[in-house]
Amino acid sequence: MSKILCPFCFEQFKSSQTLFRCINSRCSGQAPDKTYAKYQGLLSAPKLGLSFAPREGGIKKIAGLFQGPREVSCPTCQRPTPKRICPTCHYELMYDAGRTKERTIAVIGGRSAGKSIYITTLIHCLFNQVGTNFNAGVMARGDLTWNCYQNDFYKPLYEEGRLLLPIQTAEVNARTKTPMVFSGDY
Ligand SMILES: [Zn+2]
Ligand SMILES: [Zn+2]
Repeated sequence: MSKILCPFCFEQFKSSQTLFRCINSRCSGQAPDKTYAKYQGLLSAPKLGLSFAPREGGIKKIAGLFQGPREVSCPTCQRPTPKRICPTCHYELMYDAGRTKERTIAVIGGRSAGKSIYITTLIHCLFNQVGTNFNAGVMARGDLTWNCYQNDFYKPLYEEGRLLLPIQTAEVNARTKTPMVFSGDY
């Protein structure tokens, strides 16, 4: 069974341990998610779809022998859901988490060493020169990653020609921990 590394809390778990979240907005199982709130640093728990482990008989679609279920039915409303979440922090996983080759890149350096500038130029290079030279397609995964890269990194540095603001530590601002996810085809 393949393993998944949560890009938010960095806990590693087996595909089979992944939880699911019901996506039916009328499901009576919706409840404040205290686990999600704790890891996101929220003071009050947002009301979210029921989180649950797949159970026997609830599995609708299998992704592959070693990749766990693709869709399971909610134990409360019986509607199928494909939304998978981390069993530790309840962060929503990419639909293909654990089903493709994944690499987590960490850049280590002291405060104000230029880590954010390095990451910004690295992504810019991957989008442009490297992509062209290796005939590879590099894409941001989802609006969250794209907006974060554009507004917090690319625009200040490349369009406005100014240095990036220091990133707040994860203790001060949990949003700092929200990962930027990119995919490449080559
Ligand atoms: Zn997690
Ligand atoms: Zn439900």
